[in-house]
Amino acid sequence: MIAAADFNITKVERSKLNEMSLENIPFGKYFTDHMLEVDYEDGEWKTVEIKPYQPLLLSPSLAALHYGQAIFEGVKAYKDQDGEARIFRPFENFKRFNISAERMAMPQVPENIFIEGMRQLIELDKNWIPKHADHSLYIRPFMFSSDELIGVRPSEKYKFMIILSPTGPYYNVPMRIYVEEKYVRAVPGGVGYVKAAGNYGSAMFATKEAKSKGYDQVLWMDAFEHKYVQECGTMNVFFIIGDTAITPDLAAGTILAGVTRDSTITLLKEIGFKVEERPLSIDDIVDAYKAGVLYEVFGTGTAATISMIKELRYKDFLMNFDVDNWRTAPEVKQRMADIKEGKSTDRYGWMQKV
Ligand SMILES: *Cc1c(COP(=O)(O)O)cnc(C)c1O
Repeated sequence: MIAAADFNITKVERSKLNEMSLENIPFGKYFTDHMLEVDYEDGEWKTVEIKPYQPLLLSPSLAALHYGQAIFEGVKAYKDQDGEARIFRPFENFKRFNISAERMAMPQVPENIFIEGMRQLIELDKNWIPKHADHSLYIRPFMFSSDELIGVRPSEKYKFMIILSPTGPYYNVPMRIYVEEKYVRAVPGGVGYVKAAGNYGSAMFATKEAKSKGYDQVLWMDAFEHKYVQECGTMNVFFIIGDTAITPDLAAGTILAGVTRDSTITLLKEIGFKVEERPLSIDDIVDAYKAGVLYEVFGTGTAATISMIKELRYKDFLMNFDVDNWRTAPEVKQRMADIKEGKSTDRYGWMQKV
């Protein structure tokens, strides 16, 4: 562990919190007083700076802007019933971040920067964690290549940062989803299993087209046959068919191993479902729908936790769901919220003290 002394901390003179309320704030728009910034140079990480949130001064030749060595994470912190700050499963994000770093030929970020840095930053800005139900502090760690050189090669310099954004209840309307058969998100051997910035950029066009047709998101299919379901937008996806919950398995490396996905699997088992991680074809989904045994479809991810799907369109076939009468998705969401907000016992050791 790096002791506090190895962090160079510069505090703001006056908190921006004095001028704003944390109630019902939109996702990702406001940032706390401080940020963490550390540079990698000459094969090592330099001093960790925690300092007032501020713009960066960057060269137009910044490697990340040209060749896209850029990765990120999304984590959330909550206040428990005693007002103590708790982070939801940050070690999972830490492990995944370094898996992303390896795949993108970027350096590993040590635990004493990622976790200890996150902890110290939140400690400093803990007044920014909203106390209201369904509110949280969104934590965004990220890293990008920072060579000032447009030669194509892995950069020699990198910047790792953490910024914090208080967020209100994610406006969670049930989604209309378009089954995407033309564009793909990920291919075996590609980078679908890592949180690379480019995965998001390359997904935007298909999402935009789906939106122009009146849908909220796409359901991505496998790259070769356009037959096996993958993910729903930037969320993992679950189907409740009969007494079984099914979610696509991670074997092909085309699916992001979501922390919410993993937590949902645990809670579904706790509720009493059989859970299967396996390939699931769109034909099997249509058959289950026609047989009246496709009960629920929902996405999982840190930002919204659980998003219900009220309509699924495959070619000209529409599948509609009566989400108001669903039991499972709301139950999983409630159990997860109760653990996060300290209203129920943290049975699985998910919450990390700040
Ligand atoms: C981040 C992400 C998810 C959700 O992961 P969580 O750890 O649950 O937030 C799912 N799919 C994709 C493509 C993602 O980038």
